Amino acid sequence: MDTASLTGKDLAAAINSDTAKRAAALADAGAAPTLALVVANDDSASTWYVNSLRRAAKKLGIECDRIDLGAYASAARIRSELTARSADPAVDAIMLQTPLPAGVTLDDVSSAIDARKDVDGVSPLSLGLLAAGLDGFVPATSEAVVELLVHHEIPLEGRTVTVVGRSNIVGKPLAQLLLAKNATVTVAHSRTADLAAATSAAEIVVAAAGRIGLVTGEHVNEGAIVIDVGTNESADGSIVGDVDAATVTGKAAGLSPVPGGVGPVTTALLMRHVVVAAENARG
Ligand code: NAP
Repeated sequence: MDTASLTGKDLAAAINSDTAKRAAALADAGAAPTLALVVANDDSASTWYVNSLRRAAKKLGIECDRIDLGAYASAARIRSELTARSADPAVDAIMLQTPLPAGVTLDDVSSAIDARKDVDGVSPLSLGLLAAGLDGFVPATSEAVVELLVHHEIPLEGRTVTVVGRSNIVGKPLAQLLLAKNATVTVAHSRTADLAAATSAAEIVVAAAGRIGLVTGEHVNEGAIVIDVGTNESADGSIVGDVDAATVTGKAAGLSPVPGGVGPVTTALLMRHVVVAAENARG
């Protein structure tokens, strides 16, 4: 079977074109939209990601302010920075970069982000709104998976989907978004007894575990759609996904590439959220 490459580049370009126009309109009306990127690590992958977000923001006319708290910042220090930026009318949007310092979890600090500025949907309020089916910002990566499927005209209503991974920033919010699209959703995780049984029962498989090559041809049914969320650094420094593309290609009907699949759509949606936050703040 031919396996279509479910790329995200065209979709990201279309989203970015709309975002750039809206950012320019905001700038013409007074001030460009502003994103505060709060960083508390010295992780190389995170630094690479933060720099790529800053480049993306600049291209779209979004001001991006990096606030570096250092890799040893306490939970109290991070919370106080997030509280101050939440109260600052010059800041439209806040994103807290992970990983956090050793001993600090996202749960310790994320409630300090005002939900109106929480463009990556990580605060308990944002996650609760999503679970309740109410309006709020949703985590951009989860939203990117759904947008990518819709863009490639893959129906979700009534289909079976297995999501591999149950983190608060990818797997769980994705399950909620898929339910809202009337899919029948299974969420697998590290304690799932038979991962291959859970994934091969599904028409659509989303791999979001952060494990190189976890999902192989043995895990997917002939004709399934496979979305690879994983962005893992391989031994040679390149970025690879969670899916073993060599064995899944030829068996699946579609597979999203890494890089070039979910990633560019995630960045585009984050930037769109920044513009939406700015539009909301300015009425
Ligand atoms: P995470 O917090 O480490 O969560 C990983 C999840 O995968 C956990 O729920 C874990 O189960 C599950 N898991 C781990 N090993 C497994 C196994 N052998 N079998 C089944 N499930 C397993 O990671 P995350 O933040 O959700 O990120 C997941 C991946 O997405 C990473 O590669 C990350 O880099 C990538 N990511 C990509 C983007 C993008 O824009 N493309 C954005 C964000 C993240 P337990 O809950 O039982 O531990």
